[in-house]
Amino acid sequence: MELIRNYIDGQLCEPINGNYFECFEPATGESYALIPNSDKDDVQQAVIAAKEAFRFWSRTSTDYRHDLLRRMSELIEENLSALASAESKDTGKPISLASTVDIPRAASNFKFFANALTQFASESHEMPHANAINYTLRQPIGVVGCISPWNLPLYLFTWKIAPALAAGNCVIAKPSELTPMTAFLLSKICIEAGLPKGVLNIIHGYGQSSGEAIVSHPEIKAISFTGGTATGARIAAQAAPMFKKLSLELGGKNPNIIFADCRYDQMLQTTIRSSFANQGQICLCGSRILVEKSIYEKFKRDFLEKVQQLAVGDPNNPETQFGALVSKAHMEKVMRYIELAKEEGGEVLTGGNVIQMEGRCQGGWFVAPTVIEGLPADCRTNQEEIFGPVVTIMPFDGEDEALSYANSTGYGLSSTIWTENLSRAHHMAAQIQAGIVWINGWMVRDLRTPFGGIKHSGVGREGGWEALRFFTEPKNVCISY
Ligand code: NAD
Repeated sequence: MELIRNYIDGQLCEPINGNYFECFEPATGESYALIPNSDKDDVQQAVIAAKEAFRFWSRTSTDYRHDLLRRMSELIEENLSALASAESKDTGKPISLASTVDIPRAASNFKFFANALTQFASESHEMPHANAINYTLRQPIGVVGCISPWNLPLYLFTWKIAPALAAGNCVIAKPSELTPMTAFLLSKICIEAGLPKGVLNIIHGYGQSSGEAIVSHPEIKAISFTGGTATGARIAAQAAPMFKKLSLELGGKNPNIIFADCRYDQMLQTTIRSSFANQGQICLCGSRILVEKSIYEKFKRDFLEKVQQLAVGDPNNPETQFGALVSKAHMEKVMRYIELAKEEGGEVLTGGNVIQMEGRCQGGWFVAPTVIEGLPADCRTNQEEIFGPVVTIMPFDGEDEALSYANSTGYGLSSTIWTENLSRAHHMAAQIQAGIVWINGWMVRDLRTPFGGIKHSGVGREGGWEALRFFTEPKNVCISY
C-alpha cells in the first residue's frame, strides 16, 4: 500500500491528525494507496509556510521564476511514462490518453506560463492634456488556493498552479481526493526542481475538510476552483463575504450541433471522441448531439456502428480506447441517469449497462458507451450534467430550432458546430450561450485563449493573460508632472 503525503514547506509530511483514507484503482475496484485526511491544521501550517515564502518569491525576477517553471515542465516530460501510468491507474483512463493528453498537457502548462510571464507587463496610460501619466502595476496577490477535480487530475491541477506561481503568488493546492497520485508525484518533482520551500504546498483530503479549510482561511486571498456547479455555489457563498477573488470552472451540458452540410467523416470521427473520450468525463464533452433532420437516420446508423467498435478494456492496455469510471459512486450515479432517461421515455440504442470485465478488471467500474434517443430537450436527462459515457441524440429542423435546444440548459461551457456554411457558422457562434465555441472541431486548444463558461458553468476565465490577470492585483499609480 503506497502512502501519499502532503507537501508543506518543502517537505513531504504526514497529516497532523495522523488520519488516512483509502485510494482506489477504478479498473479493479481495489484500494492501493492511503491518502492523508488533512484538515484545517494542515492548511494552517501550509499558510504559515506560504506567507513566509511569499516575502521572497514575490520579489524574484521573472527570469528566475521562468527557469524554475521550465525545469518543472522538463521534469514532467522526463517522467512522462511513470506519471501516465500513475494517472491511468488512479483514474481508470486509458494509458494512451494519459500519455498523449494529460501528462504532455501538464508539462505544457508549466512551459506555457514560464514563457508567458516573461511577456506579462505593467501597463501605462498617458494623459498629455492633464500632464499626467498612469502606470498600472500587476502585483501578485499573496497566498492563493487552487482546488481541482478528478477527471483530468494533473492537467487541471497544473493549469492553475503554473499561472499562480508565474505571477509571483504562493499556493496552497488541493487535488481531488479520488485521484491524488500525480499531485503527490508533482510534490517530488518540486523538490527535485529546487522549488523554494513554501512556494507551493499540496494538501490532500476531502473537500468538506481540507477544501473548506482552504476556502475559509482568511489569509488565502483568491480561490481558483474547478469542479461541480453545486460545489462552486458553496465555495462562492463562503468566499464572497470575505471578498476573495474567485475563478470558478464548473459543469457543462454541451451541445454538439451537426448540420447536413458538414464534412461528414471528420465530424463522425470527432463526435466519437467528443462523446466518449475519458469515458465522457471531460467537462467539454458534447453530451447532447443535435443532428439536422435530413441526415439524422444516416448519422444514427453510422454513429452507433462506431460506438460499438470502441475498444473497451483494461486502461493498462495500450490498445484500450475506453476505460473505467472514476468511482463506484460515480458509476452508480451514471446508471441512475440511464434509468431516469428510460423513465422519461428515452430509448437506449446502445450501451446502457454496467460491463462485467474478466481477469484483472473483474471488480472494476465500467459502464458501456451509451446512446439514447427520443427525449425532449427540456427533460432532466437533457438538462442535468451526467458526466459519464452517456449521450443523447436529437433531430432538429433549421438554425433557430438548433439554437433553442442548444441554449435551453442552465449551463454554458462549450459547444461544437459542424457546418461548411460560413455565414451560418458565424451566426450560430454569435448566438450560442457558451464560453467556448468550436466550429468543425473539438478540444483544439490554444493555451493563450480565454477558457471558461457562462451561466451555471462558471465565473471568470482561465488561460493566457486571463489567468495572469486573475492571479494579480492591478494597482494604478497616477503621476502628475
Ligand atoms: P467536485 O465539485 O465534487 O470536487 C472538485 C474539488 O473540490 C475536489 O478537489 C473536492 O475535494 C473539492 N471540494 C468538494 N467540496 C468542497 C468544498 N465544500 N470546499 C472546497 N473544496 C471542495 O467535482 P468533481 O466531482 O471532482 O469533478 C467533476 C465536476 O467538475 C463536473 O461537474 C465537471 O463538469 C467539472 N469540471 C469542470 C471543468 C471546467 O473547466 N469547467 C473541468 C473539469 C471538470
